[in-house]
Amino acid sequence: MDYLLPLSYITTVTGGILLWILEGVIPFFANRKARGTHAAGNLSIAGVNLLILLPAGILMAGILEQSKSFWPGIRSLDLPVFVQTIVIILLIDLWMYSWHRMNHTVDFLWRFHAVHHSDPSMDVTTAWRFHYVEILFSEMLRLPVFILIGAGIQEILIYSMLMTPVIEFHHSNISISSSTDRLLRTVIPTPMMHRVHHSVVREEHDSNYGSMLSFWDRFFGSFKSNIDIRNLTLGLQNESSPEQQHLAALLKRPFHNL
Ligand SMILES: [Zn+2]
Ligand SMILES: [Zn+2]
Repeated sequence: MDYLLPLSYITTVTGGILLWILEGVIPFFANRKARGTHAAGNLSIAGVNLLILLPAGILMAGILEQSKSFWPGIRSLDLPVFVQTIVIILLIDLWMYSWHRMNHTVDFLWRFHAVHHSDPSMDVTTAWRFHYVEILFSEMLRLPVFILIGAGIQEILIYSMLMTPVIEFHHSNISISSSTDRLLRTVIPTPMMHRVHHSVVREEHDSNYGSMLSFWDRFFGSFKSNIDIRNLTLGLQNESSPEQQHLAALLKRPFHNL
């Protein structure tokens, strides 16, 4: 399973580059200016997060390996390996849905998650735009969940390899036909679904929380699609000025009036 980690890096980087190129060729919102500057801003936020994600990943792998001996989680059911992997992946995706929904419903968490939503020109690089405190909370909370489930580092890597291209895809500013989008959204959250999630209107952005599977939104009643996406405004109200979109301002944003 040693190949899983480099493979997950390769799918992430290749998927990101391909979608970035496609955004230039078949954009949904056309005439986007300064794509490079916008991407550099989002990727610098992502760079800060790597300082947390790399050591957290190593620590998590060690803890999960140790925890197997005293708490097997789903492994105690002795399911065939393939079925067990699918069940674990589904449960991880359910956690991702729940965590994302919590980020919208708990005001304190929204302060940090709002940095992801404040991007007025969502594209594939927005998939990496998260405040470092949100990343920190996410890493801290997912560890006990993974232990409870009995997820091993292999299942987490397989999940991330499947989920990351989907996240890049649904943030991307590419134009695909409505029939293809409708077909894809029976399984995964699509760009049309996630654009609703990035609308400035709260009733619209409090919907479509899915990461890898769109099923959870339908099941828990948070699916929304009947929106005029062409005329939708992305981002957050009064937060689109270049000063507010500057790296330092975005990092400081959650701490205003704390
Ligand atoms: Zn959100
Ligand atoms: Zn998003």
